[in-house]
Amino acid sequence: MIIDLRSDTVTKPTKGMLEAMFSAEVGDDVFGEDPTVIALEAKTAKLFNKEAALFCPSGTMTNQIAIKVHTQPGDEVLCDVTSHIYNYESGGISFNSGVQAKLIHGERGRITGQQVVENINPDYDWLTPTRLVSIENTGNRAGGSYYSIQQMQELAKVCRENHLNYHLDGARIFNAITENNYSTKDVGKLFDSISVCLSKGLGAPAGSLLLGNKEFIKKARRVRKVFGGGMRQAGYLAAAGIYALDNHVRRLKEDHKRAKNLSKVINGLAYVDDVLPVDTNIIIFNLDKKIKAENFVKQLATKNIKASGFGKQAIRFVTHLDFTDEMLEKVEKILKSS
Ligand SMILES: *Cc1c(COP(=O)(O)O)cnc(C)c1O
Repeated sequence: MIIDLRSDTVTKPTKGMLEAMFSAEVGDDVFGEDPTVIALEAKTAKLFNKEAALFCPSGTMTNQIAIKVHTQPGDEVLCDVTSHIYNYESGGISFNSGVQAKLIHGERGRITGQQVVENINPDYDWLTPTRLVSIENTGNRAGGSYYSIQQMQELAKVCRENHLNYHLDGARIFNAITENNYSTKDVGKLFDSISVCLSKGLGAPAGSLLLGNKEFIKKARRVRKVFGGGMRQAGYLAAAGIYALDNHVRRLKEDHKRAKNLSKVINGLAYVDDVLPVDTNIIIFNLDKKIKAENFVKQLATKNIKASGFGKQAIRFVTHLDFTDEMLEKVEKILKSS
């Protein structure tokens, strides 16, 4: 048995999901004729109370399309220093949109309205026009931390007052919602655009949705084609997405419970210096200075556990749909005896 804790993207479709995919009704979605894609887009838009949605192959693409539609070359995006759009999208914001990022040092990935206000450039010829604020909920590199509704509202207010577009990288928004008292509709109300991943904790093989108003999604659809993301019989993937939304959202709390459980064990290990707070399904911990993350990952691999090194000293584990209680027990046993 191989236990893969590198990411919540490693899940394979369940039997029920595969059956939904097999029986999907499909058509050519570039012609707008795939009924299952249309159904997924309508379902997700409704869920977040947005006017429209666009199904894309990846979360990188939904973020990149949003940034392209919201900005002009030479504009500036405000985001946290840990953000996915800056760190893990292959420099796409400059490659695709010709924009630059001004990085804000938030608290575990979370930036504040005050920080945004302080970083808006005045309107001088020699300064970069500030155009977009992008936040991540939950924060990936930040260790699965989430925003409260008040924090997101405060940022929304600042964006509105300063005519800035407001984007949510909600690759793991359902993980955030699981731990909070806000709903998808509460979230939808605040943002000009939202990116939601189906291929993370929700367990679909691929696919993300971009949400916004009709005019925004019309432009986004054109950019998706430019980026090469127009898919034909994508209904097979959309069916997996519909199944994931119907069946895999409520169970996310199990992933969070297992992550908390695992973090308690890790906290007690002599060779671990500290564990970041575990709010959702991501655990990041720092090893004793004598141990290199790279070597620790190799050692775990010999025991059939896959993990990610996060810099020189840190290790990341992510719990997910295919990580069971039996696996949890086994990992805890191996960590204690390492
Ligand atoms: C995974 C992820 C994405 C999108 O990644 P893809 O692999 O392109 O689907 C975007 N933002 C965050 C925060 C992520 O964790």
